[in-house]
Amino acid sequence: MRAIFASDSTFMLVKKLLIYRMMSSNMFINHALTGMNMAYRVMGKTLTNFIINKTAGEVFTSGETLQSLNADIKVLEQRKIGGVANYVVEGLHEMHEPTIQKVYDDLIDGIKSLTEDNKEGHYAIKLTSMITIGITTRLSKAQGVFLEDILDLWGKEYITAEDIRSGFKKHNISHTEEELSQLAASLKFADNNSDQISRVERYANGHLFPLFSNNPFLKRLQLSLGVTQSDQTIFATFIRRVVDITTLSHQRNCLLYVDAEQSYIQRILDSIAHQLTHKFNRGDKVIIMNGFQQYLKRMERQVPLEIEASKKLGYNLGIKLIRGAYMSEERRLAKEQGYESPIQETIEDTHRNYNKNMALIFANLRPNDKIFLGSHNQESCELAKKLFVQHNLAHKQVNFGQLKAFSDQITGVLSAEGYNVYKYLPYGPTETVMPYLVRRGQESKQVLREQRFQNEYLKAEIKRRLTLGNYA
Ligand SMILES: Cc1cc2nc3c(=O)[nH]c(=O)nc-3n(C[C@H](O)[C@H](O)[C@H](O)COP(=O)(O)OP(=O)(O)OC[C@H]3O[C@@H](n4cnc5c(N)ncnc54)[C@H](O)[C@@H]3O)c2cc1C
Repeated sequence: MRAIFASDSTFMLVKKLLIYRMMSSNMFINHALTGMNMAYRVMGKTLTNFIINKTAGEVFTSGETLQSLNADIKVLEQRKIGGVANYVVEGLHEMHEPTIQKVYDDLIDGIKSLTEDNKEGHYAIKLTSMITIGITTRLSKAQGVFLEDILDLWGKEYITAEDIRSGFKKHNISHTEEELSQLAASLKFADNNSDQISRVERYANGHLFPLFSNNPFLKRLQLSLGVTQSDQTIFATFIRRVVDITTLSHQRNCLLYVDAEQSYIQRILDSIAHQLTHKFNRGDKVIIMNGFQQYLKRMERQVPLEIEASKKLGYNLGIKLIRGAYMSEERRLAKEQGYESPIQETIEDTHRNYNKNMALIFANLRPNDKIFLGSHNQESCELAKKLFVQHNLAHKQVNFGQLKAFSDQITGVLSAEGYNVYKYLPYGPTETVMPYLVRRGQESKQVLREQRFQNEYLKAEIKRRLTLGNYA
């Protein structure tokens, strides 16, 4: 266990202990953002950033630059822990081309820098850093209506073109017979000669916004479902950037961990990630690791479909299995707007769903598939280890991940036991990194409990060093 803190001076350990204690306090977590904004107003940006960087920033982030990020990765490598670069940017609220271009350039530079001297890189990407939440919300709603209503994803196991016709009628969408039959044909897998379209075919191929083909009927359909022409133009540029980033990642063998976000935008983000997965997770490569949030009720049905689709279409699974970070917002919105909350009713339901889907994925992993367990939950990690042995899996198939400075005892043990384990390393401008960390703390009380557990290790190590007279 001592190895976890081997690279820290005793002074740093004391500093960590104090900062962890502060972060474990509900009062701090609930008021940190207000306090930070006030500090920016009273002390100015330079001084506030300096203070943050010398305290919480130093512990929880990898600094503001690629140099500091790479230095952190090197330190972790010595302990056989990998780093997933997490360039932290907020979801966009207005289209501002220079800001988006900068995010794009920074992502490209990051991927190049990570893979310069390494045969593999790991990079987290938040799609809404390059397109606004407003546009994404409209696209997501349209994709949701198309897939879940018109194609009746969660309804009948099999549908026919006649069911799609009824769906169009319900939404007053005009179409020709040819358009209807072409759409029905495009949903089927290559070996399907019947007129039935299965659920897994709709799940795998039901994309209202195809990334790699131009379909004038679907474009018109998008407009009928609330998307504007301006949205379509912006989306085309956004997708060009996303495909460029993925193509570069493919060339450089850099895995892209796609952030899962709020459910009102997640349907379009899923659709994009799935299409990229189908194209780029091929041969012996996994490039796209898409986030699957297990606090969502629909995941009970979605994860089995993802496994089935990967087998039918022959792509490699790339699943980042997480519980989900937006529970309070999701529940509030559902209450305010009078719809059923998409989130599991209790934390036990979320845990059950996470562990059940993890077991299902492990049982179905093929040699080139990858799962990444993004979790600080000790029981889930223990279960993963058992399943790893039970299914006789290879380390490259199963990966664990925790956030930097969160649950270091779990990371340390996994690494010591020879598992592939990574730290998410947030880096970027201090003004964006801190709100991100505070939100993670707000969402996860268990993590804070884990921190208290980690504090015990810290205290023991400080005491040990002081007893030995090691003050360095
Ligand atoms: C490496 C990594 C990457 C991540 N990437 C993403 C991402 O892309 N998108 C994202 O949304 N999150 C992401 N997260 C955060 C993650 O989804 C969780 O919010 C966080 O890790 C806490 O879950 P846990 O499994 O670590 O811990 P636990 O403490 O075991 O679980 C806490 C989680 O359980 C759920 N929960 C808590 N209370 C309830 C309740 N009353 N009812 C139902 N469910 C409840 C919530 O999801 C909560 O976050 C990531 C986390 C890690 C470690």
